[in-house]
Amino acid sequence: MKRRDILKSIPIMTLAAGIPGSIYKYDAFGKIKYAKKSIDYFEELGVDKVINASATMTWLSGSLMLPEVLEAINSTAHDFADMYQLQDKAGIKIAEMLNCEAAMVTSGAACALVLGTAAAITGFDSEKRKLIPNLPGKRPEVIMQTNHRYVFDQAITTTGAKIIEVDNEEEMHKAFNKNTVMALFFNAAESWYGIKNNISHEKFVAICKDHNVPSFIDAAADVPPVENLFKYQKMGFDMVTFSGGKMIRGPQSAGLLFGKASLIEAAKLNYSPHEAPIGRPMKVNKEEIFGMYAALKSYLEKDHDKEWQQWMDRTAKISAILDQMEGVETKVVIPQGPANVFPTLDVIWDTDKFKISGSQLYDKLKAGTPSIVTSKTIKNNMEFINVGVVLLQPVQVSLVANQIKKALKSSI
Ligand SMILES: *Cc1c(COP(=O)(O)O)cnc(C)c1O
Repeated sequence: MKRRDILKSIPIMTLAAGIPGSIYKYDAFGKIKYAKKSIDYFEELGVDKVINASATMTWLSGSLMLPEVLEAINSTAHDFADMYQLQDKAGIKIAEMLNCEAAMVTSGAACALVLGTAAAITGFDSEKRKLIPNLPGKRPEVIMQTNHRYVFDQAITTTGAKIIEVDNEEEMHKAFNKNTVMALFFNAAESWYGIKNNISHEKFVAICKDHNVPSFIDAAADVPPVENLFKYQKMGFDMVTFSGGKMIRGPQSAGLLFGKASLIEAAKLNYSPHEAPIGRPMKVNKEEIFGMYAALKSYLEKDHDKEWQQWMDRTAKISAILDQMEGVETKVVIPQGPANVFPTLDVIWDTDKFKISGSQLYDKLKAGTPSIVTSKTIKNNMEFINVGVVLLQPVQVSLVANQIKKALKSSI
């Protein structure tokens, strides 16, 4: 008997209960049923569960998705969608939520940098879309402040563009020519390098407008405060990116690109599901788009003051445990921003009493059970640790404090 005949001969109710050999099980209504039995995949692969007492770092899997994000992912996994329509419709809603012309979901802020630059290079030219990053002629140019150069600007040069460095407004004015396609502002340069912007946000935007060239701001890690999600488009930046997998707590692999409609539309043309422009190898899946949308919605709706207070309570709880120790001191530190503006705790100890350096304590906590990742910090030429509280699960707060206490004690 041929396979087709076998299928024909199986009564319809049996089919509904599951096609033999199929990975799916169906309920009486023909909907896919998933196994209830839960498997500990960490255990199955021998991967350590890490307590993140630091910040939203990609190597530590970014952030933890909120239950509503997981719900959006799970509940949308059973049906197909036209990805063009999904990207368009999600973009319309996100743009409404962020008071801007247009938006899209990208695979992280790094992808948004690639797509935004590609959009600035190609516009709606399909020939250019096919050729980038190897366009004939002079390389497209992107202007940046010299002291804004950073690791992620490789996402700009990935498109074939080259970066032109300027140090002040006058140099910036002069840097524009017919090859200039965009200017990039790295919002957290001040946080990362402890420098001042040579050219202010407002001036940067104004100069770009004078030359009729789009401006792009990378604000990937720059919420909280939530207001930052609205600030830069209002200032006049043509494109803005934020990571989805940082404090917005969407999928780690997602991000937002938003701003001027013509640029976002051009960015979409350089992206999946089109085959196969520069952005195709950076696709986001259907569930990530729904998940990113759900995360943003939830982030905008949340009570940020209350959450801030919960974070402060966590630092107080850890301090209460560590400050009992003679020779140990804790101090709440809130970075000035614009990146990673949330409470953390410096833990400082008398190194005459506790014979352990900051790096050694960091390593010991990381190698411990459970593994805890903190941050190393340097104060007055001495190494200490800094404890991040915003990514801890509530039950982990005193655990982290007690593990630090234990590790310090064992160094006496
Ligand atoms: C995290 C980060 C990125 C990359 O973001 P992803 O969402 O991980 O792609 C880019 N720029 C800055 C400033 C960042 O902090």
